[in-house]
Amino acid sequence: MADMHSPTAAAPSVIRRADYRAPDWLIPDIALDFDLDPALTRVHATLSVTRNGDHERPLRLDGDGLIPLEVKVDGRILDQQQWHLDAGALIIPLSGDAHSVETLVELAPESNSKLMGLYASGGLLCTQCEAEGFRRITFFSDRPDILSRYSVRLAADKARFPILLANGDPIEQGDLDGGRHWALWNDPFPKPCYLFALVAGDLACNADRFVTMSGREVALGIWVKENDLPRTAHAMEALKNSMAWDERVYGREYDLDVFNIVAVADFNFGAMENKGLNIFNSRYILADPETATDIDYDGVEGVVAHEYFHNWSGNRVTCRDWFQLSLKEGFTVFRDQNFSADMGSHAVKRIEDVRILRAAQFQEDSGPLAHPIRPESYMEISNFYTSTIYNKGAEVIRMMALMLGAERFRAGTDLYFDRHDGQAATCEDFVAAMEEGGGIDLGQFRLWYEQAGTPHVRALLTHDPLTQSVELTLEQTIPPTPGQPVKQPMAIPLRTALFDPATGGHRGDELLMLTEAQQRFTFTDFASTPILSINRGFSAPVIVETNRSQADLAFLSARDDDPFARYEAMQQLMVNVLVGRIAGQQVDESAVVAAIRAMLTDPTLDPAFVAETIRLPSEAYLGDQMPVVDPDAIHAARDALQARIGAELEPLWRDVHAKTKANAFAISPAAKGARKLHNAALHYLVAAGAPDGPAIAFTQFGEADNMTERQAALGTLANGDSAEREAALDIFYNRYCADALTLDKWFQTQAFALHPDVADQVEALGRHKDFTLTNPNRVRALYGAFAGNQWGFHHESGKGYRLVADCIIALDKLNPQTAARLVPPLGRWKRFDQGRAAMMRAELQRILAEPGLSKDVTEQASKSLE
Ligand code: ZN
Repeated sequence: MADMHSPTAAAPSVIRRADYRAPDWLIPDIALDFDLDPALTRVHATLSVTRNGDHERPLRLDGDGLIPLEVKVDGRILDQQQWHLDAGALIIPLSGDAHSVETLVELAPESNSKLMGLYASGGLLCTQCEAEGFRRITFFSDRPDILSRYSVRLAADKARFPILLANGDPIEQGDLDGGRHWALWNDPFPKPCYLFALVAGDLACNADRFVTMSGREVALGIWVKENDLPRTAHAMEALKNSMAWDERVYGREYDLDVFNIVAVADFNFGAMENKGLNIFNSRYILADPETATDIDYDGVEGVVAHEYFHNWSGNRVTCRDWFQLSLKEGFTVFRDQNFSADMGSHAVKRIEDVRILRAAQFQEDSGPLAHPIRPESYMEISNFYTSTIYNKGAEVIRMMALMLGAERFRAGTDLYFDRHDGQAATCEDFVAAMEEGGGIDLGQFRLWYEQAGTPHVRALLTHDPLTQSVELTLEQTIPPTPGQPVKQPMAIPLRTALFDPATGGHRGDELLMLTEAQQRFTFTDFASTPILSINRGFSAPVIVETNRSQADLAFLSARDDDPFARYEAMQQLMVNVLVGRIAGQQVDESAVVAAIRAMLTDPTLDPAFVAETIRLPSEAYLGDQMPVVDPDAIHAARDALQARIGAELEPLWRDVHAKTKANAFAISPAAKGARKLHNAALHYLVAAGAPDGPAIAFTQFGEADNMTERQAALGTLANGDSAEREAALDIFYNRYCADALTLDKWFQTQAFALHPDVADQVEALGRHKDFTLTNPNRVRALYGAFAGNQWGFHHESGKGYRLVADCIIALDKLNPQTAARLVPPLGRWKRFDQGRAAMMRAELQRILAEPGLSKDVTEQASKSLE
């Protein structure tokens, strides 16, 4: 049913992986001279260019919105006939094989609302170049396989911009007339231009040092606004831990004399790994107990590590082209996940990571925007910084690490880093290094790079009492995805154990490789039917269906020695009950209640693990289990089960809530675990409808000495209607309205609320005086959160769709990249009833009809209609 929509602008052109060609010209050196000013910045660039190969093609330097004020070749000014512009790019025919090319352009950073290129944020000047922002700063060959040595001179007003930072090492600085000053930075490592960065501003520094394994001293600096300095300690700790971890686990050492991080308030995503000068969204740097939750603390640790790890997986070895993005992102996410696990709990970290994968990536992989971790084509590369590239990419690396084992995996990464240091590499290079260094054949495994879609695995266990053998039949199917109607069977590593219900034990964990569409595995010497524990540790990013009974799942939820499998059994137990209830069937909920009781009363368990495991699956995850998502039925069923669990175990919840109350704040794993369980107990208590529930939540809100408990109490209250709800929201607002990051939580908590009027509330909040489209964090806090609130966003009136579409249309004019991120929730229309689907499509069509729509939103909205 291909129906018509008529985007007004010509369809953006498609870039294909197969079309890759080596660059015509190389640029071994670049010198940049910035005369900085928010209203008018002048950029003078000197490029050494050399012809690459035998060809007659002119030099083509990408540009986006730039007008050359002057073009010189080998020191001589070219007249206007000797160059021209083509789609923003500067074209210069050159006769020799090596030339010096100079350009001069002017920029207006303070009116750069896209936050790509050079822009102003809270009085600072800063840059973001990945993926294609450098062409908004100067004419250059803006592709990651052009590696250049950078020398950067910055000049600015000394009073407004006392600190001048760029990549690499500081060389020299001095004063100029008229209250201005300058600084010269040099980066000895050739790098692609997406890693270029500068920052100018009035910044204070948390300064520290790190001595590398070879004994070199590195000066570390975290630069923030003066009054934010007390909130940088956790980030600094994380940085030093990351540096030590990469030496210990991967043998990789830092390579410059300085490592700087700057926090900025307006940023399109999390952070950026610019060589020697990481630039961060302030939400991933600033943390203190008063304003940051434990999730925020973990976010800081994880993102600081992620960007630091990029120094090897991304910078020293970079990407040949943007189709290889997962080469650096998937690998680096894998590295930061393992780092965070080592800093805290492996079990809890794995559960959290899988929850994120299922919530974001599985949804993407089953919708109109599904793509392989190495895509074949794109219109706008910014749209491919996806959960598939990052999180599924990390899972693919994790499977290789699992199949190889720690030592051989390390041999593979050693070979990869050594062989490709200083190069722009491909995903294939990585896989080849794993094969050679690790000694494994990854032929079929490469399909993980080619095929999109989440594989489904059916696992059927049968027992033959006569032969005392067990047969496990595994069947895989990979659903069709855009452009890939038919799939080949993949290589799927499944960690498996068979439990003997009599002894409660098993004979060992086996790695089964499922490589065929259907495969049988036989196990002998089983007098009775064992219980199947499969995809332990979530060894493969697949959906597993089994024929296990509720009793089997209850057994595993109590006895499985793999913590992830134990969590998974509990989740499945809950899903089965909820899906049954949603379908209007009679279901026995007592097993769920009993399993939760058992968890809560087992003193040997880590409270953080308990808190994760007793949580009901999200409404969105339940939606994923249904052929047609019914948001109202899902909400009602989940709410009812929650109330029942709350009511039946009420004394226990009260007890747990009291026992997990801390005396003083600490950021240790134990203290974080206690808070998680404390909040879970509060949540169930309030869900139970206990008359004093809101009062208990309000007390927790008022007395907590940390944001984790305060925000959880607010969130719990926000789901209902009570005097306490309104009072707490007012108090929160008045206390934090001057602190943008914390005020984001006020918007976000209301947008996430499971409240029948949430759409109206979001609409009102969109008109609140503190709401602004110019700050991406604020937009995500309100509209991003709301679009992830299944019950509210999919309100049968269609109001939720309209709100989000209005936001996309308005934001697209300012910041297309951030606007495009809000499109995918509207694209999931195939999963909903006809009424909702029609309204979602109508909004996508309304967006596409907007004149002057960006390439970013055009790509996402048009693909979403297909
Ligand atoms: Zn990254």
